[in-house]
Amino acid sequence: MKTFPLVLSAPSGAGKTTIARRLRERRGDVDFSVSATTRLPRPGERDGVDYHFVPEDEFRRMIAAGALIEWAQVHGAFYGTPRSYVDDAARNGRFLLLDIDVQGARLIRNAVPEAVHVFILPPSGRALVQRLVGRGSEDDARVQRRLRNALDEIGTASEFDHVVVNDELDAAVRDVNAVLEGRVHALRPHPPLEGIVGEIRFEIERHLDASVADGRATGQL
Ligand code: ADP
Ligand code: 5GP
Repeated sequence: MKTFPLVLSAPSGAGKTTIARRLRERRGDVDFSVSATTRLPRPGERDGVDYHFVPEDEFRRMIAAGALIEWAQVHGAFYGTPRSYVDDAARNGRFLLLDIDVQGARLIRNAVPEAVHVFILPPSGRALVQRLVGRGSEDDARVQRRLRNALDEIGTASEFDHVVVNDELDAAVRDVNAVLEGRVHALRPHPPLEGIVGEIRFEIERHLDASVADGRATGQL
């Protein structure tokens, strides 16, 4: 099977990490690109497995040495894809899943033209808020920052080769798996992007306004 790097982007909380893990459990020919980041580990995250957690001076050294094929500042921290994962996957004939933000996806489009790009959307704005809050990994201020970023990120969905709505997890995993296998005709159709994106933005704005009204909003991180 012809393998390629698969970029998975999504607003935070849409479920891309969950989908990527399921895909790797399901297939023996998929590797993860483990990004370098300056953000602190969440409880349970392991260095070298979830991310390479590095201080900012080390991250800057990696940029200067050309060790990152792309990097970006996301939600206030630096994140970057080590070039070695992309090179190794190509050499070993493996799919490589890159869980990166929309800025990184744009950079990969130039740096790795053979990559295929999938945008994961939540089924609704309400589901996105519930998943992000329900994950419990960020405090209120950080959740709000991720939701504010989502307002812009979801507007880039049309730049991607494929859009998958993560309503029912198994169906979303099957869709992304179909992309890996080149069976893109098997992808479930989704409603027009403009409508979904408008609804998600509306719900996010409503949540952010309600947070301001009950005093949970802070400008500080
Ligand atoms: P991301 O990596 O895009 O930020 P995660 O994979 O961490 O998102 O998912 C966010 C939360 O939503 C997690 O708690 C996850 O278990 C949950 N989740 C993911 N997909 C679904 C789904 N299809 N239905 C319900 N909950 C989901
Ligand atoms: P989180 O902090 O929730 O793990 O990730 C925050 C955001 O950073 C997500 O949108 C994730 O896709 C993105 N991200 C993770 N690694 C990279 C990377 O190497 N490069 C870029 N550009 N974004 C990344």
